[in-house]
Amino acid sequence: MLSASKGRLKETRARRPANSGSSARKRRARVNFVSVAQLLLVEDDPAIRGALIRALTERGHAVTSMPSAMDALQYVLDSPPDLILLDLGLPGLGGYEALRMMRAVSSVPVVVVTARDNEAEIIRVLDAGADDYVIKPFGAGQIDARIRAVLRRAAQGGPPDGGELEVGGLRLDPSGHEATLDGAPLDLSRREFDLLHYLAMHAGQVVTRRDLLTNVWRMPYGGADKTVDVHVSWLRRKLGETAQQPRYLHTVRGVGIKLSAPG
Ligand code: CA
Repeated sequence: MLSASKGRLKETRARRPANSGSSARKRRARVNFVSVAQLLLVEDDPAIRGALIRALTERGHAVTSMPSAMDALQYVLDSPPDLILLDLGLPGLGGYEALRMMRAVSSVPVVVVTARDNEAEIIRVLDAGADDYVIKPFGAGQIDARIRAVLRRAAQGGPPDGGELEVGGLRLDPSGHEATLDGAPLDLSRREFDLLHYLAMHAGQVVTRRDLLTNVWRMPYGGADKTVDVHVSWLRRKLGETAQQPRYLHTVRGVGIKLSAPG
């Protein structure tokens, strides 16, 4: 049973602090920011950087570019952009480390650009807080569409928030990303918390993998559906249960996952 309301989001997440410079602020105040966004492009390859700047500028975005992650981190602290396009293959401080450092200080949406068509790598960056990814080589239309989708979600307030949820001995507090089971704190990654929270919001209902990929991972369905199963198995371990002897997380074969309080 849910003790907290599963009411709609009340708070519209505050927009990130405006870029420094009042002209940027004024320009953004006048236009729909989904169509004109301040992007920070972090890419060391001058040819790719040039091509992306051209393509994104043509599509109406304002693009600042940096060749290294250290410069980008400083820039993000000083004047947060609307979105960061982050190449993973950077010399020195790599894109993955940079992403983790950015996430520690900033919630600016990040779209990762990677040449590595490798599912494990993609899961790793999404878990580290990337909002989406594109695999090189990609067309300008695709990256523009992904940027716009991420900005739309950011404007809508990101993942579900709201009040505390309680299902059996499980309590989830989205404001602090804290979870306890029978009073004992659970040590969950951000993604594990989001997954558990989403399942708890739909307690008693079977949630499909497609639903989870779309709403928790913000990923299109297809190909990467092992992601969900892997995270469910990690969650099970942390909840002290197994697929064979479930307490909270019940796999409904061929359909999805259901969270319910132990009978
Ligand atoms: Ca590179």
